[in-house]
Amino acid sequence: MTRHDLNQPPPLAGYNVFEADRPLREALEREGAAWAHGLVHRIGEIAGTEEAIRWGFQANANPPELRTHDRFGHRIDEVEFHPDGLHALPWREPRTGAHAARAAAFYVWSQVEGGHGCPVSMTYAALPALRKQPDLAREWEPLITALDYDPGLRPHGDKRGVLFGMAMTERQGGSDVRANTTHAEPTGSGDYRITGHKWFVSAPMCDAFLVLAQAPGGLSCFLLPRVLPDGTRNAFHIQRLKDKLGNRSNASSEVEFISAHAVIVGEEGRGVKTIIDMVNHTRLDCVIGSASLMRQAVAQATHHTAHRKAFGKLLSEQPLMVNVLADIAIESEATTALMMRLASAFDGDGDESHFRRLALAVSKYWCCKRAIAVVAEALECHGGNGYVEESILPRLYREAPLNSIWEGSGNVNALDVLRAIQREPESLEAFLAEVNKTRGELPRLDAIVDTLKRELSDPSDAESRARRLVELMAITLQCSLMLRFGDPVVAEVFCASRLGDSGHQFGTLRPDPRLGAIVERARPELPDQ
Ligand SMILES: Cc1cc2nc3c(=O)[nH]c(=O)nc-3n(C[C@H](O)[C@H](O)[C@H](O)COP(=O)(O)OP(=O)(O)OC[C@H]3O[C@@H](n4cnc5c(N)ncnc54)[C@H](O)[C@@H]3O)c2cc1C
Repeated sequence: MTRHDLNQPPPLAGYNVFEADRPLREALEREGAAWAHGLVHRIGEIAGTEEAIRWGFQANANPPELRTHDRFGHRIDEVEFHPDGLHALPWREPRTGAHAARAAAFYVWSQVEGGHGCPVSMTYAALPALRKQPDLAREWEPLITALDYDPGLRPHGDKRGVLFGMAMTERQGGSDVRANTTHAEPTGSGDYRITGHKWFVSAPMCDAFLVLAQAPGGLSCFLLPRVLPDGTRNAFHIQRLKDKLGNRSNASSEVEFISAHAVIVGEEGRGVKTIIDMVNHTRLDCVIGSASLMRQAVAQATHHTAHRKAFGKLLSEQPLMVNVLADIAIESEATTALMMRLASAFDGDGDESHFRRLALAVSKYWCCKRAIAVVAEALECHGGNGYVEESILPRLYREAPLNSIWEGSGNVNALDVLRAIQREPESLEAFLAEVNKTRGELPRLDAIVDTLKRELSDPSDAESRARRLVELMAITLQCSLMLRFGDPVVAEVFCASRLGDSGHQFGTLRPDPRLGAIVERARPELPDQ
């Protein structure tokens, strides 16, 4: 019997993940990164191969293992990995569109596997924080930006490239880092000794960490290397690895520092202000990661349903399935547009940086939440086949909630939006200026932007209303971006449904003969089809 007879689709492999993604291709041009087309094309080519897809499965089937001691009982605190890698591009090529180019590449590559992107993301994100201490940046920047992945714990002076992680969260709290108890004692010769614990430290095989600890002058940011210049291990002891819901290819650990050597980054007492640059860049990657999960889920669902029949017709021809697929496809497309606009704001300053301040917190809240719902719906489009590991959907499903938890969970980001509006009113001006670029084009959108402005000017119960506000901000921004840049039909359906003309679940769009074309726009085509 042939596979066709069994009513099973061919595997979604052997296609270019980038070229199959029209919204991404269009956004890459639009956001000033057309010069990176060749790079993202190459990554997309590899990401769609059967081999790369297999790597994703292997990385999850062989999770990292902790080796705390060698055969003689000496502490080594290493985590063994199947090596894999991608580098950070904007620091090497600081040109227009560099962050947008990296976002596109990271989004395409993360579709193979999400977990291994964590240390890649943290290494990319560490540099802007490190630059607040220029002498340290001079020493470490060439290693951070090097193209060589040089695994193994050795003094950084002996390495061709390094990876960075971050250690903020403690057992008693991650959102409220000011309550950190880990403390840093100055040695008198310019450096510090750090003692305490951290409750979640991902990718502990990294070469160095930005760590928050209480110094005499208050909570401060430190660079803590795993190996000291003389080759001895710093007192960074991995207690155990976390047994996590998903993200299993990425080690996350509990660590203890016992008088570990560290050097300060920025000023004493300004730890949050210093590390926030790292946090903001990893928050961008949470948005990219969520967009990537949505895209892969939609690609799988549109592919599966185009090959699977029920009740005498392809699933992709059943009107209700078309409605569901179109609904998740427009959500994915609007998220890709938002992610690329946001990433390109990281390339700019002035108004762009004000826009970025608010749009980042709004997008981190909204896109990460939406990814969870989109992935769940895409999984259901596969029926029972989607509940089976081989379909990739279970892995996407387990990964999806994570982006909303780390680097500031949903509520924390929603509250950050309020903080930004209060402390940096110019960020709200820049945000509204962006949304108002389509003023007059769609009365329903204009009316909702006016409602938003009224809601924002009302200070009562602001915290309790924060999620409602942020939701309105996210939807109005996405609608405005779609009107300006999106495919006209997708933009029309997206705006109508997200501005009130649909139900609460996906698949509640108004019937429209164009929904099938929206699904086709999202469906990746295999070369021989
Ligand atoms: C897989 C994984 C890897 C991680 N890797 C790292 C890492 O490498 N380095 C690192 O430092 N951390 C890491 N973390 C930790 C992560 O950043 C924290 O879990 C996160 O910041 C939340 O902190 P918490 O877990 O202590 O939750 P809490 O701070 O206890 O928060 C619990 C809930 O309360 C909400 N909340 C908090 N304050 C308020 C408020 N004022 N109003 C309303 N709601 C509120 C939060 O949004 C959250 O939903 C990782 C976490 C995971 C799951």
